Parts: sequence; C-alpha cells; structure tokens
Amino acid sequence: MALIVQKYGGTSVADPDRIANVANRVTKGWRDGNKMVVVLSAMAGETDRLIRLSKELADPPDPRELDVLLATGEQVTVSLFSMFLRSQGLEATSLLGHQACIYTDRSYGRARIIGIDTTRIREELKKGRIVTVAGFQGVDEIGNITTLGRGGSDTTAVAVAAALKADLCEIYTDVEGIYTTDPRIYSKARLLDKISYDEMLEMASLGAKVLEIRSVGFAKQYNVPLRVRSTFSNHPGTLVCKEDAEMEAIPVSGVAFSTNEARVSITRVPDRPGIAARFFGPVAKANIVVDLIIQNTSIDGFTDLTFTVPKGDLAKTLELVGQVAKEIGAEKVLSDEHIAKVSIIGVGMRNHSGIASRMFSALADAGINIMMISTSEIKISSVIEDKYLELAVRVLHDAFGLEQARPTVQA
Ligand code: ADP
Ligand code: ASP
Ligand code: MG
Repeated sequence: MALIVQKYGGTSVADPDRIANVANRVTKGWRDGNKMVVVLSAMAGETDRLIRLSKELADPPDPRELDVLLATGEQVTVSLFSMFLRSQGLEATSLLGHQACIYTDRSYGRARIIGIDTTRIREELKKGRIVTVAGFQGVDEIGNITTLGRGGSDTTAVAVAAALKADLCEIYTDVEGIYTTDPRIYSKARLLDKISYDEMLEMASLGAKVLEIRSVGFAKQYNVPLRVRSTFSNHPGTLVCKEDAEMEAIPVSGVAFSTNEARVSITRVPDRPGIAARFFGPVAKANIVVDLIIQNTSIDGFTDLTFTVPKGDLAKTLELVGQVAKEIGAEKVLSDEHIAKVSIIGVGMRNHSGIASRMFSALADAGINIMMISTSEIKISSVIEDKYLELAVRVLHDAFGLEQARPTVQA
C-alpha cells in the first residue's frame, strides 16, 4: 500500500465528464489499496476568466481581493469532485488551502509555501477517505487567502507530497509527459522516459510550463519521486529524478522558449562606477526580475546598457530607468517587446564542448539573428526576434538530433 499524491490540471477537469473520468482513475488507485491525495486545478480557462472579470471592475485589481477571487476556481473543482465520489458511495473530503493548513507568506499572487501542517490530511486518510486538496492556494499567518502564482497547483501537489513523505507524486496533464520541446510547437518532439531535476528546473524557468518551477525545486530539495503523465491515456509518462550517467552522456536534452520578456536599452550611458547600480537598484526594489544584461565596451567614456524584464513589468521598468537616465544624462531609453528567448538545456553540456558554436551556427544557417546570449553550466539561451521563434525551435531540435532516442553530436 502506497501513499500517492496526484495532481490534475485544468484541461483534465474542464467539464463534469472529465471530472468523472479523473474520479474513476483516482478510485482505481484507492481500490488497489493506496492512500490517495488528489490536488486539483480550476477548470481550464477559469482563472483567466476570473482575472478578466476582476478587471471589469478594478484595473489593476487589489491583490488581496484578487486572491480571494482566484481561489474560487479551485474551490469549485474540489467540491464537485468530492460530491461525485460521495454520490458513488465513496468516502471523500475536499479541503481548501486553509483547511489543508498550507501556510504561505503574504505575497499575494505569488505567495511562497512556508510550511504545511499535515495533521488534518492524515486524519482524513486514516478514516479511509480520498482527500482532495484545492491547488494554487494557501493561507497566511493571520488567515488571508493567498495564491501561489500561475501554474501553482503543481507546487501544491509536490509540497503536499513532500510534507506527507508520499511514495509518489503524479502530475496528470494534457500531454503524455515531458518532451524534448513543446509538442504543440514541433511535432517531432520526443517523449522523454526521464529527466533530471536540474534539467527540468532550467526547462521550467526558461518557459516550459509543463511543470511550474517551484514544484521542481521542492521535488529536488525533498527528493520527491515525481512523474508527469497524461490524464487521457495509460502511458507511464516521464520520471523527474536524480541525474545519472546516461543523462550526462547526452549534451542537449531539450529546447525551451519564452515570449514573456521585453528588452530595454539605454544608450550613451556615462561609463563610471555605480551607474549599473543606479539603474538596477530601483528596478530590484520594485520586485522586477531582470534576466539577461549586456553592457557594450565603452567608447569615449559612454556605453550602452541592454537588459530584459518580464513583459508585464515593462511599463514600470521604463518609468524607473527613464528617471535615472534623465538624472545621469544618458541619451535615450528604448524598448522592444517583439523578442523571444530560445534555450537549449542538458546536464551533458558540462562535459561536451562545441555546443554553443553548434547552436549559433544552426541559428545563423536559418538566417536568424541573435541579439543577446546567456549561458550557465547546463543551458545556453539566445534572444531573437519573436517572428523566428518556431523556426528557431525546429532548427535547434534538428541540429542536436533530439528526435532520435540517443542523439549523436560531434563537437
Ligand atoms: P495543466 O493545465 O495540466 O497544468 P499546462 O498547460 O500548465 O497543463 O502544461 C502542459 C502544457 O505544457 C502542454 O500542453 C504543452 O503545450 C506545454 N509544454 C511546454 N513545453 C513542454 C515540454 N517540454 N513537454 C511537454 N509539454 C510542454
Ligand atoms: N488555476 C491556476 C492557473 O490557471 C493554477 C493551476 O492551474 O495550476 O494558473
Ligand atoms: Mg500547469
């Protein structure tokens, strides 16, 4: 008998028939003698609908009240799910974030889980019940409802699995598992049997939304056995696990991309100590995450500074850096929203050479200009014009032979 945490995403619970389908899957696990904890997302599109609704009355909506509103999406699915199970004569209990004692800080809209008291969940399990926990939500120390950020139900599931020391955490979604790249963008994407925590962390942070990044962080930190698989088939999917020698032999295991960032350039910035801090200080203080940064070589004591920020933070960033640019006498502040970031990822990069040059040649051969580059031990990212994104994903996937199970790359 195992303790299993399963999470079902929005498409998996999009309507009553699908909720019943999920309930049947869960019941099977329960009848096999397992203890089942089920984390559910809101129905597909519901969180977006609620955000739009809020904006009809208040734009931007108050963050505290927005979290109260958004948490209702998951309240609907967990209650429907449990009432269906009960109508089938099964024992089931739904728990909202505060009832499941999922404690977070007070950063509305992007709250962090700081602890989970599993007493209530364990009591329900002991009574032989199937426990359903609302994903994406928690409660702060004085009872305010918080939400964890988009895609946050993955994090709820892995955090609950870690806290319960579950034997397995399964993330059920609308594709068969984790692929070499988003299968909706490139039909040659290949389903992976397994991927390391570190590679998945990079994939998630570089745009692959199949798992939310914090969920992977928890899984790695607490060694949670994590499997991503489809709600609509019986394929075993992809295991996210510790790195092994087989993974290290492959230089590149995936291609990720994002169109979420915008580029900001400040031209003719006086090149003297403390200038970068003048620009990035206020941006950091506003909680805006700067990703890539480039500073050109200085000519005549002036330099250009270019960096990227999330698109949603562009207006605020321009306001903040525009002010500093004026104060220090920089020439102008420019911005570009038509950019995309395409990245290759692989733990094998650590011990293979020539990977960057192969990436740049593949993009060059396709006529794609690279605007910015950033690298880490296990990833290389290039910023390009967004209209070339799908082409870039395809040429990189081909260049590293990701379609085949064991890509061969000559350095
Ligand atoms: P859910 O609602 O179940 O949480 P998401 O939409 O958040 O589902 O995540 C699943 C989606 O992630 C897939 O439909 C797919 O388009 C996308 N995706 C992006 N990159 C990948 C990848 N490398 N492998 C699998 N899916 C990916
Ligand atoms: N319902 C939330 C969202 O759409 C959380 C989730 O689905 O994971 O982002
Ligand atoms: Mg998701």
